[in-house]
Amino acid sequence: QGATAAQRWLEQDRRYVWHHMQPYAASRDPMIVVHGEGATITDIHGNRYIDAMSGLWCVNLGYSERELAEAAYRQLAEMPYYPLTQSHLPAIRLAEKLNAWLGGEYKIFFSNSGSEANETAFKLARQYHAQRGEPGRWKVISRYRAYHGNSGAALAATGQAQRKYKYEPLAPGFVHVPPPYCYRCPFGQAYGSCHLECASVYEQVMEWEGPETIAAVIMEPVITGGGVIVPPPEYMRQVREICDRYGVLLIVDEVICGFGRSGERFGHHNFGVEPDIVTMAKGITSGYLPLSATAVRASLFEAFKDDAPYAHFRHVNTFGGNPAACALAVRTLEIMEERRLVERARELGRALSAALVPLAAHPNVGDVRSFGFLAGIELVADKETRSPAPAAFVNQVLAGCKRRGVIIGKNGDTVPNHNNVLTISPPFVVSREELDQIVQAVTEAVHEAA
Ligand code: PLP
Repeated sequence: QGATAAQRWLEQDRRYVWHHMQPYAASRDPMIVVHGEGATITDIHGNRYIDAMSGLWCVNLGYSERELAEAAYRQLAEMPYYPLTQSHLPAIRLAEKLNAWLGGEYKIFFSNSGSEANETAFKLARQYHAQRGEPGRWKVISRYRAYHGNSGAALAATGQAQRKYKYEPLAPGFVHVPPPYCYRCPFGQAYGSCHLECASVYEQVMEWEGPETIAAVIMEPVITGGGVIVPPPEYMRQVREICDRYGVLLIVDEVICGFGRSGERFGHHNFGVEPDIVTMAKGITSGYLPLSATAVRASLFEAFKDDAPYAHFRHVNTFGGNPAACALAVRTLEIMEERRLVERARELGRALSAALVPLAAHPNVGDVRSFGFLAGIELVADKETRSPAPAAFVNQVLAGCKRRGVIIGKNGDTVPNHNNVLTISPPFVVSREELDQIVQAVTEAVHEAA
């Protein structure tokens, strides 16, 4: 694009497009992306960047997988739309494939986004209990720092003030517990000598709330969008065990961790836990088309077989499980199998985690955490106080990376804007050289900003 044309696009963007999440000043100067290839994107000026965030943690197969486009095209030409009040072949194929990937037997409810997948899970959980004679079970326990989506209940389940501020009051019935955040243990303990208070707190909270009022616990295997908070290995199993004891369903949000990002097919596979409900989105289509799924353990579906009035799940979604999106998702999973991309993500994750070790010594790096092929680097003002690095410092690091041709992310938690965790979550097709460039860019940018 010529400079004048680019300027015109920018002016039109400034006039008409409302950017997600961006403060006004930042939204004035967006990267207008016009092309993608492998792990790289090209902006309207011809600048090329390695996208170390896979868009929003989703473009796992990279930006130029023609087979995905072709799978969607073929389906659009054959049969572009029919609602899932009935059925179609791509939905059946995908539901079967998801079962194979999950390694259990699940009924699959399709929607369009991670938020909707979680909304669906909450309604299902409540109705399940109601139909089994426990209509009082309606509350959902989630964690501070977690992100579960932008819509009513999904945002209520979210545990980040910065996402909720000025939109409250939200849906009632969402109770939060502290996260398993060893670097800043909310219980003042140290892992190794603690009693996993972060897990046992669920039991305490269930007792305080009244166990007969709790429908479900929702958690990501690892809190991703709230600062890459990796729990102790036995944490999830312990929470599962508490849920079992109290008759509470465990919903695992695999929107980011699913489909290989964790180094296994699903994040919970790393922890030896069987969820009751699994929600997924993003990587299911490698981000190419909107699609999400709520997988419900087949044994739970028994409660929805009754012919009594209102016994079926009265939830409909015009676009959920769109045939082209389902066909594309099937091809995504097939490609991951054919090219062994889950294994590749695992290996790349190990390489990334090893390459980031030296950065941990930097005085402004408080903690480096990784899980599968994603990493978080927590920036601090100093190692002693662990007080979060100021926003200006974090932004300087991001800008330094961008100048070096690498896009990384940031997240965290509190108002106003203490997003002090750098995030890295590259496409699985990234080359070793590109991965080295990512690590080098981040390392140099941190040193430069200090
Ligand atoms: N759950 C998790 C863990 C997420 O990271 C996100 C989005 O980032 C969501 C749910 C919501 O997904 P969506 O943006 O597709 O609605």
